[in-house]
Amino acid sequence: MKANVRLWKSVQPHCRAFSTSPRRLEQYAFIGLGQMGFQMARNLQSKLSPSDTVRLYDLNKEAMERLAQEMRAQKAGGAAVQLADTAADAAKEADTTITCLPEPQHVKSAYSTILSNKLSTTSGKKPVFIDCSTIDPSSSREVGHSVEKAGGIFVDAPMSGGVVGATAGTLTFMLGAPADLVPTLEPTLLRMGKRVLHCGTPGAGLSAKLANNYLLAINNIATAEAMNLGVKWGLDPKVLAGVINVSTGKCWPSEVNNPVPGVVETAPAGRDYKGGFGIGLMKKDLKLAIVAAREAGAKLELAEKAKEVYETAEADDRCKGRDFSVVYRYLGGKE
Ligand code: NAD
Repeated sequence: MKANVRLWKSVQPHCRAFSTSPRRLEQYAFIGLGQMGFQMARNLQSKLSPSDTVRLYDLNKEAMERLAQEMRAQKAGGAAVQLADTAADAAKEADTTITCLPEPQHVKSAYSTILSNKLSTTSGKKPVFIDCSTIDPSSSREVGHSVEKAGGIFVDAPMSGGVVGATAGTLTFMLGAPADLVPTLEPTLLRMGKRVLHCGTPGAGLSAKLANNYLLAINNIATAEAMNLGVKWGLDPKVLAGVINVSTGKCWPSEVNNPVPGVVETAPAGRDYKGGFGIGLMKKDLKLAIVAAREAGAKLELAEKAKEVYETAEADDRCKGRDFSVVYRYLGGKE
């Protein structure tokens, strides 16, 4: 055991020699145990073999210890769990390291710590780094080049499905990786999700994710405006949603996440816009899409206005921290 790693549940090394299974011990690291990472790491660890190890790291020690306790309390199976003192300790000799961090600066900082160690694995294979954070494709490629230069493999696998999908293990990953690596990466991702969409070479997963979320950001505002307009004209919101959802205006915000309370029973609008996809995250993804669009020379006519709407709405106490469909409330919609 390394001095800087506290062992919670470990495999006795001598047991491996007598194991009936020829399977080699796999070493995983999971860095970033926030709302998403905590649940993803839990699913990953529970679906790995006891001969594997997962090393956890987050700046927040309390999250690390709480997760390790949950993993320990698990009745059967699951990989051995270790807690690391730094991101570099977590990734040391890991075959696969998964990172799930908030913004580009956190990803850059974690990888600069990781790369302060010489990269290696006990198997002699190149270590693989899967970054599930939603950041801009350029920052991701920049980190990827540093990892490659140090002898590792770096891919981007941002996800959709939110905390609900992370908890249930039903996330969709948008993977940016060389095609020949997809079969190697899929089993790990499918322990945390149910779908892997290979979008192209590194950075492509993030491009797909940001293009989708740009469209979502606009659709959400347009749906809130259209619903508010109809209600102000005297239409019953359920009748209006019924028309839109069999017509050309139909979209995810109108059909699944309708912003008017009571139109869709399960939508966050019906619970004071609590839960769901936070307005702050929408604002963040929109900003990333704007940066990436600028770099690619792609004209976005609606982006700045949409950004202003999310920024102003988020600064409003009635909307802060709520699902992004709360834009309807910000517009003065009838609830
Ligand atoms: P979060 O803020 O809840 O968690 C981030 C975690 O990273 C925190 O625990 C923080 O302590 C840790 N952290 C920050 N810097 C670190 C460092 N240098 N080393 C180690 N740990 C560090 O964020 P989240 O909601 O889990 O989201 C993670 C990523 O997934 C983000 O990029 C987000 O955009 C994306 N995402 C989130 C959702 C969602 O619904 N929450 C959905 C899809 C994608």
